[in-house]
Amino acid sequence: MTETMLAERFYAKDHSIHLEDVPVPHPGPGNVLIEVAYCGICHSDLSLINGTFPAQLPEVTQGHEASGTIVEVGVGVTGWKVGDRVIPSAGRPCFTCRKCRRGDFANCLHLNLMAFAYDGAWAKYHEAAATGLTKIPENVPMDQAALLADAVSTPYAAVVHTAQVHMGNAVAVWGVGGVGTHLVQLAKVAGGVPVIAIDLNDEVLARAKRVGADHVLHSDDPDLMSKIEDLTHGRMIDVAFDAVGIKPTLRAAVDSLDVDGKAVSLGLSSQDIDAGPFMNFNLQRKRVYGHLGYRGQDIGVLAEMLSYHRLDLSESISEVIPLSEIKRGIQDLEEHRNNPIRILVKP
Ligand SMILES: [Zn+2]
Ligand SMILES: [Zn+2]
Repeated sequence: MTETMLAERFYAKDHSIHLEDVPVPHPGPGNVLIEVAYCGICHSDLSLINGTFPAQLPEVTQGHEASGTIVEVGVGVTGWKVGDRVIPSAGRPCFTCRKCRRGDFANCLHLNLMAFAYDGAWAKYHEAAATGLTKIPENVPMDQAALLADAVSTPYAAVVHTAQVHMGNAVAVWGVGGVGTHLVQLAKVAGGVPVIAIDLNDEVLARAKRVGADHVLHSDDPDLMSKIEDLTHGRMIDVAFDAVGIKPTLRAAVDSLDVDGKAVSLGLSSQDIDAGPFMNFNLQRKRVYGHLGYRGQDIGVLAEMLSYHRLDLSESISEVIPLSEIKRGIQDLEEHRNNPIRILVKP
């Protein structure tokens, strides 16, 4: 193995990014070294660069949605060996907050996020904690595996844990970009019927249809609610996801609900939530949930779903680029050029 490797580095002082030769890390106790196969570009990576998320370190290697192969094992690691194909966890519990002290690591209040609090995987190698690894089944391709550590697991957790979509639920998804497309796919696997995708953009609606949406509608359609009523034969929606996170989309999601229906909000913005008049909201016993993130074990479940062909994520890989083109990839995602779901970096 060489002593140095190419890595993308973010500098907090001027919010610049650079491709640099940095030393290859050697895994500390409890850690492994992974040769990165693929690592996605996520909106939260952009949020660090543009300052929406505060920097936690003066400089850091970015990229937190990775797959790879173990090439070195640190002292004290059990159950993992060189050659294992793995997905590293995108965060580590702090082990000091009040949740961690009670053993509730999954709800750690100061989670150390990969690519924010420690170096990420836009690099040839990545040092990861062995406790957060998920094994990739043999028949699952490395590129699809890289999508599981956030891009698919967050929508999965919204469908399964927060919304608890089950067979026969009428489901609508507002905003079918990266998160929304996976919500459509997973709600359908969970038994949603019909699954309706709603967006302004014809191209992403066509893609939603390709990955399984039963119907697509335009969010600015003045007859949107009556069309939803027709498509559901008067039932209206049991579970509405808002993957956009702005006032009018959450309001429309709530308005579309049947009595006892749930609206789940996944988009992040600084706008206030509008769930309509108290009168309607309470009379019809509507519910609104906020959703963020996923459980570590969800990644393993999704890997099995790929292995057993319950899920096909081939449509989710919009492009694969070499690390040397990372700046262009970041710009393409920022500008939504060709509506990418995930651009993967292959270091
Ligand atoms: Zn991400
Ligand atoms: Zn903690």
